Parts: sequence; C-alpha cells; structure tokens
Amino acid sequence: MSKIKELGEFELIHRLSSRLKFRAPNTVLGIGDDCAVYPVKSGTNEVISTDALVEDIHFKLSTTTPEALGRKALSASLSDIAAMGGVPKRVLVTLGIPKKISVSFLDRLYAGFNTICNRYKVELAGGDTVSSPKCFFINVSIIGEAKRVFTRQGARPGDLIFVTGTLGDSSLGLKLLSKKKREAKDHKFLIGRHLDPTPRVLEAGILARSRINITSMIDISDGLVQDLYHICKASKVGARIHEDRLPRSRELSRICDRDQIDPFPFLLNGGEDYELLFTLPPDGVKNLKRQFLKAKALVTQIGEITLKPKKVLLEKSDGRDKVLPQLEGFNHF
Ligand code: ADP
Ligand code: MG
Repeated sequence: MSKIKELGEFELIHRLSSRLKFRAPNTVLGIGDDCAVYPVKSGTNEVISTDALVEDIHFKLSTTTPEALGRKALSASLSDIAAMGGVPKRVLVTLGIPKKISVSFLDRLYAGFNTICNRYKVELAGGDTVSSPKCFFINVSIIGEAKRVFTRQGARPGDLIFVTGTLGDSSLGLKLLSKKKREAKDHKFLIGRHLDPTPRVLEAGILARSRINITSMIDISDGLVQDLYHICKASKVGARIHEDRLPRSRELSRICDRDQIDPFPFLLNGGEDYELLFTLPPDGVKNLKRQFLKAKALVTQIGEITLKPKKVLLEKSDGRDKVLPQLEGFNHF
C-alpha cells in the first residue's frame, strides 16, 4: 500500500478522482483543469452552499468508517439543497489531510462519495487537497438547481407545519454509539440513521414539482425546535407543535420503552435528522398527502403557525401548553 507522500498531491488527486464514476451529461470540463465547466439553464435558479466537517467536532475516526463518513459528508450537503426545493447537481470537495491518514482511508472515503454521487446523480467536479497539522477535515461545496425556491421566510398564521420521516433517531443513535453493547437490530437502525442519514431529495422533488403553496422550508440539522425557531424568526410568527404527533420510528419507541429513556429530548432537540420541516396553508394538505402516499414517503402534520406569541409552544398530551426554549439544539460556540 503506497503512502500519500510517495504518491504526491497530483497522483493522489488522480487516484481519488478516478474512483468517481458519475459524470453529468452536460459537463464541458470536469476534474483536471483550473476549473470545472458546464452550461447553465435559463429559467432556473442555481442554489449553492458549503459545509465543513472537522474531526472530533462533527465525527470521530474511531466511531465511523471512511465510507460512511464520505456518504454523510455529501448527504448533509445534499440536504441543504433539498431544503431549498432544489435538485443537487455538482459538488466540490476540499480535504485537509494530517499525517495519520492513509491512502486506503482516502480510497474508502471516495468510495463513499461515489455511492452518493451515483445514487443522486451528482458529479464531484473538483476540489482542493491540502495538508492539515492535526485534524482531518472535509469541506463540501454544492451546487443545485431549483425552479421554485423555498426559503425559511413566508410562513403565515394558520399554516400547518409538516415534517418528513421520523425524528430523534440520529441523536439517539449517537448516544448508542458510545455504548459497548449494541448488537440489537434496533440499535443498528438508529446508529445507521446517525452515520448514514438520507437526504430528503426525493421529498423535496415532490414538493417542488407539485403546485402546493409551500410557504417556508428548512432541513432539520440542529434539532426540530431550534430549526422551527429559524422559520419563526425569519417569518415573524410563532408555532405550536403537539407532543403526541411527533413522528417516531418503531425502533426509537422500542429502545426508549425498554431502557426507560425519555424520548422527548431526542424528538425535540436531537440534531442531524436531515428531515424536511415545512409549512403550507390547510387547502394544500389533501394534495400533499396524496403525493407523498403515491411516492411511499412519510409526512406528518405536527402543528400550526400562530400569530402570537412569537415562540414555539409544545401542546402536551394533557392539553397544556409549554414554551420551548430556543437553544437546546446543537450549537458550536
Ligand atoms: P490548482 O493548483 O489550480 O488549485 P489543484 O492542483 O488544487 O489545482 O487541483 C487540480 C484539479 O484537481 C482541479 O480540477 C481540482 O478541482 C481537482 N481536485 C483537487 N483536489 C481534489 C479532491 N480532493 N477531490 C477531487 N478533485 C480535486
Ligand atoms: Mg488547489
């Protein structure tokens, strides 16, 4: 097995990029020149975003595989494009490589990139490769296309709040990762939801192609409550969600019952669900449910947008309201 030093920067880039099999049909120039080149379509918006993942902040090399890390790094970026109602098209990847990282680690990381690129028809069109003193880091920049763009701003009082998929699996999975004993099937599912999240590109496509008046949207990366606060702030409204409507997986319910874990911190504040959280007026609900049913995709109404107070309230199962604090989700600083 060759060492990075022996390969050198350019041989390494060539080796890694040659593992990537998906090329967009309209690419003029891919990896290898100073820039990648492709034509732009008229009548669409380009949506772009960038995300950094730093060892020991976002992942630990001891608890993930390089393949899963590659898949998750791209999936998190794809989720940002989905949150705008966009179709992801191209990514650029910067690697910061410390001495402890091997060529085979990078080969496996790129196998993970390749999986997601093939699955979602996204081209890895370039990047940068640098050395890093201690920590491994990855930066992913992503470019997508959107005819209609959904933003955080635009939710109105009376709109209903929906979420895709189930909540809290990823953060419960993270908790289980640190335990020794984890052979049970439910554990595997929850850990998989943490290490290998599904960006809701399909669901975003349903919403974007529908005529449903989506008034606001965000992806849940910092926890349901914190991300719902982002919508409320941008839209200058409040929200009420209902405790007994928060969608949970059977796996989460079973583990919480069995181990006597309170599920609500996970459902409300767990990070990295990468589900879509969005609002629409009540007259769009029938259409929404029909389209999600047809696609066999899960969607749940969890509450409604309110005029006042400009806070997120939780209606408990006994009918009483509780104001949810804003900053219990993930925060770097
Ligand atoms: P420059 O010196 O012009 O910045 P680089 O040597 O950094 O060019 O990169 C050469 C080519 O390899 C470019 O097309 C760049 O996008 C691509 N590239 C660099 N690093 C990576 C990487 N980690 N993954 C994929 N492509 C990369
Ligand atoms: Mg460069």
